[in-house]
Amino acid sequence: MHADSPAQIGLRVAGFSGASRVNGPGLRAVVWVQGCTLGCSGCFNPATHAASGEAQAPEAVAARVVAAWTPDHVGLTLSGGEPFQQAEAAAEVARRVKSARPGSTLMVFTGYTLEELHGHQAPLGAEDLLSEVNLLVDGRFESGGGGYSRPLRASPNQRLWVLRGRSPLSSALPPDGASELAINDAGDVLLSGFPAPGLLAAVRQLAR
Ligand code: SF4
Repeated sequence: MHADSPAQIGLRVAGFSGASRVNGPGLRAVVWVQGCTLGCSGCFNPATHAASGEAQAPEAVAARVVAAWTPDHVGLTLSGGEPFQQAEAAAEVARRVKSARPGSTLMVFTGYTLEELHGHQAPLGAEDLLSEVNLLVDGRFESGGGGYSRPLRASPNQRLWVLRGRSPLSSALPPDGASELAINDAGDVLLSGFPAPGLLAAVRQLAR
């Protein structure tokens, strides 16, 4: 590599959905990233914690999102795992999708608070990714909060920020506690959104 070449960055991906209506307003592609060190008690996605798996080139991840796009799609959602622990690569994916699909929006679910992401101990590339984000749900998941009382938030401390663009119409938001179940060609079961604990346990049992 030439000394002046930018470092190659990649995104570790835990999962992908080309079409979801429960991970943000409207129809969206979703990329779940692999790797999170925040350790929220009661996290319902512990399989995404290890920083494992091969990092994928941002252009390849973006191409997969763009290939799944339909006229009804309005945006991309990044969830996890922790998107801000791979912020540089995630920002590059977002830029490529927005360039290919002008007017689309980026939503990110993060365990960091917005104050942490602006703070002096923010993860590398946090401001870069924040500059692409339209909608952000922030804050650690806190178990025992009594269920889902507000759209897109899994615990009462989490906040929904509109960082740029228009606030989504409430009619475009998924209902409280909405979840989706999908089975891909390989037989993998994907449960996403905000499933009730009983549904989560039942699906885990089925997937064994
Ligand atoms: S930030 Fe998300 S993935 Fe990470 S531990 Fe918390 S709930 Fe789980």
